Amino acid sequence: MESRVEDIVIVGAGIAGLATSLGLHSLGIRSLVLESSNDLRVTGFALTIWTNGWKALDTLGIGNILQQEHIQLHGNVTTSLLTGQQTSTTALATAM
Ligand SMILES: Cc1cc2nc3c(=O)[nH]c(=O)nc-3n(C[C@H](O)[C@H](O)[C@H](O)COP(=O)(O)OP(=O)(O)OC[C@H]3O[C@@H](n4cnc5c(N)ncnc54)[C@H](O)[C@@H]3O)c2cc1C
Repeated sequence: MESRVEDIVIVGAGIAGLATSLGLHSLGIRSLVLESSNDLRVTGFALTIWTNGWKALDTLGIGNILQQEHIQLHGNVTTSLLTGQQTSTTALATAM
């Protein structure tokens, strides 16, 4: 069996592993990402990214690409299904 020596091995190709690998790559540091799953998981219908998440994506150099595909939330309102009355409103920051 062929053996390879890697300086950095990242276990798990979730967003944390891939972001770490991309960050290292931008610094010119190679890494090997190991993933146990054979397939991409395609569950869910939306991904909510908060301001600090966008800052992290900007730092990785991919925020601009993703922002072209996103809808910015300006706030949310919760409503009681029993009374139909608004129970709370939250204004979210508009500047990123
Ligand atoms: C239903 C749902 C909705 C969510 N919605 C949002 C959202 O809208 N916004 C948001 O910011 N967050 C959301 N989250 C949370 C977000 O998915 C997690 O915080 C994020 O995926 C964590 O990333 P991670 O890379 O740390 O872990 P994971 O995404 O869990 O990735 C870990 C990876 O490691 C692999 N792995 C595990 N063990 C091994 C091993 N021994 N060897 C090799 N590979 C291995 C796994 O297969 C997996 O691919 C949601 C979570 C769920 C469950």
